[in-house]
Amino acid sequence: MSYKISNSKFNEILERLSNDYEIYAPVRIKGRGRFSDTDNIRYQKISKVEEIEYKEKSRFSAKEIPFPATETIFNIVGEQLLEPLVKNRKFLVFLRSCDIHAMDKLDSIFLKNGDVQDPYYKRKRDNISYIVMGCNKSFENCFCVSMGTNKTDNYSMGIGFEQDSVKLEVKDSIFFDYFNNLDKIDFKPDFVEENDIVVNLPDGEKIDTSLFNDEMWEEYAKRCIACGRCNFSCPTCSCFTTVDIAYDDNVDNGERRRTWAGCHVDKFTDMAGGHVFRNDYGSRMRFKTMHKIYDFNKRFGSHMCVGCGRCDDQCPEYISFSNCINKVTKKVNDTIKEG
Ligand code: SF4
Ligand code: SF4
Repeated sequence: MSYKISNSKFNEILERLSNDYEIYAPVRIKGRGRFSDTDNIRYQKISKVEEIEYKEKSRFSAKEIPFPATETIFNIVGEQLLEPLVKNRKFLVFLRSCDIHAMDKLDSIFLKNGDVQDPYYKRKRDNISYIVMGCNKSFENCFCVSMGTNKTDNYSMGIGFEQDSVKLEVKDSIFFDYFNNLDKIDFKPDFVEENDIVVNLPDGEKIDTSLFNDEMWEEYAKRCIACGRCNFSCPTCSCFTTVDIAYDDNVDNGERRRTWAGCHVDKFTDMAGGHVFRNDYGSRMRFKTMHKIYDFNKRFGSHMCVGCGRCDDQCPEYISFSNCINKVTKKVNDTIKEG
């Protein structure tokens, strides 16, 4: 069922929903952007529709809801290890189609990667419902159409924003009761059909090891500064490290936290004995690229990259991941011709 709802009425519904759900959406944060005097757009708890920044792409994704940037796994109290008490929370999250696909990729990593599911991710992820935000135009650097993530029917509600009202499709029966006595309309969220950027993916069967030592990675060794912005803004990058913290006032007490890490960042591949597997920045770019468009697909049957373009939006060195994928594909095709 679909409805046209004034913003004031929708705010009343959001108030009722927030009795049962924590509601998250992209929000504009003034002056906290990549360059001076620019804004950031990231996920925060909201209570009113006017808080939602829907006209631009968010700089960060919603992955920090099930997978926070830092999270206590257990507390250390002398000899005891105690898991923190966790409130049972339900979440309602405004997401775009590509980011809903990204959540599927995170599910593969945290819940379907072997016999053991990640309990810290699962306890939040099981309680997340989506409101898909339609895209009536493609944003800069997006290539979701090439990655097949421009559309989805995996959502509880779908929304289109207008000046003083919203159009809302309510698909999931658990939400029907919040929308009684409203006039019905025909409405489905918009999904883009084309992007300015087109990416051609390589045929995975044709990739051979010559690509791993190819000179194309040298360019990235020179340009990348290993800041990790591409990793941290990516909705599907899911690497973390663990950190043990001893409290100053009593070093027998402390906690173990997991915190985001990334394949571009220094120390990510450091091992005991001083081994470092990917010291130069070009090999880190190669690792990320092949993980996003080759290894993950081999393991889980779809590409890890969803084409949101955030890595390109965020890179201070203007490195384009979509260009990189196209270069890989050209190399693979040229190698086939030469062979
Ligand atoms: S690699 Fe870049 S384009 Fe692909 S999902 Fe991550 S941030 Fe988006
Ligand atoms: S954002 Fe750019 S410079 Fe920073 S690690 Fe990623 S590719 Fe390298």
